[in-house]
Amino acid sequence: MADGGPVEHGYPHLETVRSAITALYKRLSYDTVHTFDTSVAPADVAFCDQDDLHLGAQRVAREMVRHLRLPDARVIVSFRAMEHAASVELAAGPEYFIELNDRFRHHRRDIGAALAHEVMHVYLHRLGLSFPGTRANEILTDTATTYLGAGWLLLDAYREDGASSQKLGYLTPEEFGYVLAKRALVFGEAPETWFTSAQAYTAYTKGLARARHDGQQPPLTAAGWAGRRRYAKDRRYALDHGTGPRDGGPYAFSRPDAAGPLRVSFACPTCHQRIRLPARGRTRARCALCRTLLDCDT
Ligand SMILES: [Zn+2]
Ligand SMILES: [Zn+2]
Repeated sequence: MADGGPVEHGYPHLETVRSAITALYKRLSYDTVHTFDTSVAPADVAFCDQDDLHLGAQRVAREMVRHLRLPDARVIVSFRAMEHAASVELAAGPEYFIELNDRFRHHRRDIGAALAHEVMHVYLHRLGLSFPGTRANEILTDTATTYLGAGWLLLDAYREDGASSQKLGYLTPEEFGYVLAKRALVFGEAPETWFTSAQAYTAYTKGLARARHDGQQPPLTAAGWAGRRRYAKDRRYALDHGTGPRDGGPYAFSRPDAAGPLRVSFACPTCHQRIRLPARGRTRARCALCRTLLDCDT
C-alpha cells in the first residue's frame, strides 16, 4: 500500500473502479455481495494510544478477517521501517504476514485502514480475483475494500491541515467517496456520521453526488430534461442510420440485425454491467447481475 506525495483529486481511475464493482458482482454473485450489508463498525476497530500496540493490531486484524469471513486465515502483524505504508505476503496460507510501516506505532487510529486494505488482498487472493498490472490491481483492492464495508476507514485516514496531508490507498478521496456512496445507495447506509476527518466527509459528499449522477443518465427515466431531449434526438438519428451519432457517451445504439429493432446499450447505474434493451419506449428492466430495477424510456 502506497502513501506519501501530493494528494491527487477527482476521478482519474473511474473506469477501473467501475470495472472493479462489476468484477465483484460477477465473481461473488448478488447473494454474496449482499451478505456484506453491514459495514465494519467504528467501535470494532477503535484503537487508542493506551492500547498495547501489538495486541491491538492483532485484534483489529482479526476483526477484518471476521468481517470478510476468512475463518481459517491467521494474520500476523508486525512493524518495521519501510517505504510503503503496508504490505502483505500472499502465500498459500493459512498464515499471512502483514507488515506495517513503523510510523503507525504513533498513528494508531489509521491501523484499521491499513489492515482493511491488506486483509482484502488476502480475500481477493483466495478468490483468485485480480486485475492485470499492479496499479489496476490496487484499485480493485481499494474498491473491493470499500464496496464490501471496510473502506470507509481508508477514506477517513485522509486528512489535511495547513502544513501537512495524509492519505492511504490508491483511489483519490473523491473516488473513495464515490464507491462508498454506491454502497450506501444499495444498502441504505448513512456513513456520514462515521468520519472523524472533515476532508473525508467533504470527499464523501462529492462522491455521493457523482454516484447519484450515474442513476440520472438516459435512457433511465430519472434523467434530467436536457439529457432526455438529447437522447430523443440521438435515437431519431439512430433509427435512420442504425447507429448513434456519437460514441463514448452514456449509451450506444445498434441494430445487430438489419431487419430487427433498434437496440440501446448502457451501463447499469449500480454495477456498471452493460444492459441491452430494444429502443421502443417506456420499459422496466432488471439488471441480471445486481438485480437493480431500472425504469427506462428507451
Ligand atoms: Zn495493496
Ligand atoms: Zn447491475
